[in-house]
Amino acid sequence: MLNEVSSFVLPDKPVEECGVFGIYTPGLEVAKVTYYGLYALQHRGQESAGIAVADGRQVQLHKGMGLVPEVFTGNSLDQLTGHAAIGHVRYSTTGSSQPLNAQPLVFRYAKGMMGLAHNGNLTNITELRAQLCATGSVFQSSTDSEVLVNLIARYNANSLEEALMKCMIDVKGAYSLVIISEDCVYAARDPHGFRPLCLGQLGEGYVVASESCALTTVGATFVRDVAPGEILRLDRKGVTSTQGFRAQNPAHCIFEYIYFARPDSTMDSFNVNRVRREMGRQLAREYPVEADIVIPVPDSGTAAARGYAEESGIPFEEGLMKNRYIGRTFIQPTQQLREIAVRLKLNPVREVLEGKRVVMVDDSIVRGTTSQKIVAMLRAAGAKEVHLCVSSPPVMRSCYYGIDTSDEKELIAAKQPLEEICKAINADGLHYLSLEGLLEIFSSKGGHFCTACFDGRYPVEIPKPREAGKFSLE
Ligand code: AMP
Repeated sequence: MLNEVSSFVLPDKPVEECGVFGIYTPGLEVAKVTYYGLYALQHRGQESAGIAVADGRQVQLHKGMGLVPEVFTGNSLDQLTGHAAIGHVRYSTTGSSQPLNAQPLVFRYAKGMMGLAHNGNLTNITELRAQLCATGSVFQSSTDSEVLVNLIARYNANSLEEALMKCMIDVKGAYSLVIISEDCVYAARDPHGFRPLCLGQLGEGYVVASESCALTTVGATFVRDVAPGEILRLDRKGVTSTQGFRAQNPAHCIFEYIYFARPDSTMDSFNVNRVRREMGRQLAREYPVEADIVIPVPDSGTAAARGYAEESGIPFEEGLMKNRYIGRTFIQPTQQLREIAVRLKLNPVREVLEGKRVVMVDDSIVRGTTSQKIVAMLRAAGAKEVHLCVSSPPVMRSCYYGIDTSDEKELIAAKQPLEEICKAINADGLHYLSLEGLLEIFSSKGGHFCTACFDGRYPVEIPKPREAGKFSLE
């Protein structure tokens, strides 16, 4: 265990809101399978992508900034040959968009080569980095992952499993990891199971991924979720499981179901589309509104809007069209062009909206900017009334476990009461799903979730506020 602490402090950012993939399947083109797996996880991160492949002798890496097909061009995949691979897509967060933070990280150390990719946020990263620096470690990036790599390298006396187990004693917070050595792949999930991670079977081998949509995309059969605190080793013998750290109270991230995950994924026994639909139904029971149509804010509000329509009997309509070709490179508009820019992304359908009392369903309100713009857009397109129904409780607190929630100071629900938010976004009515109503949806199978962004009940101690004036790598 490390114990010496210096006053070296890093910023809370970057937030590791990402997707990971891993495969061990001899006889398959593992780099290409990983490419498709990452493509299916693209919604989890658009800033950078990378794949590391092992062939029994070495670990080769290709990574870069951009979307998966932008990073892997030409013959880059053909050169990544081997029987095992890991991959990563990384989310874009302000101030941290640097090539150095792209993953997987691949290192040489006393035992050979290792690659690591990580989804989640460690909460004691500042202390760990300080301890490592005090004993001579150097860092290139500002990622949690580099701290993990350093710890594993220090602890790997006998086996990577043993090193990971020691590492799991030191690190606190959220992590779903994939690690590659020259000849096998490991996967590990933190003891609370904050971020999702599942196992699938593909041909003679096995695959792990952040979400099951990536397993089914590559033709793998879902086997099970990786258990909280579990370490899996994928190699020529198949899968070996070790309980790396005693499982704690499960605290699966509820926001994955609300917004982040893809609807065709099933995580910890709950299908995302089904859950979202139930959220809409519950919302309709809690807040019946007299209206002519129910419309979603596509795509994140679509399943809940369907649920609301089903439960209320009000017709479901598509009143907003989403332009699916607006990518990461979308130029931030000047003030003058802002209205056009908003309509470029979401365009109202006048023929659907004109003269109608509209229930608009969205998954969440964070700062309130989106809702304000969309309500104005619906009114301009002739809607008579706009009632905003939100399929989550008010987001009141920051997430420290891997979801990029804004600073608490920017969260509209933390600053203003409901009536004022309703006024600020100029809606005729505003309704949030209750936390009890949300949890009720999961109660049948006894799910246990982290709801800290709604109620401030943090399952793992959160980092201390940043100390001003201390050294930063960003
Ligand atoms: P805002 O304008 O800040 O209120 O943003 C709310 C919208 O952003 C909602 O419609 C959500 O679909 C989406 N959203 C919620 N959480 C996140 C997140 N962590 N990252 C990006 N978008 C989000």
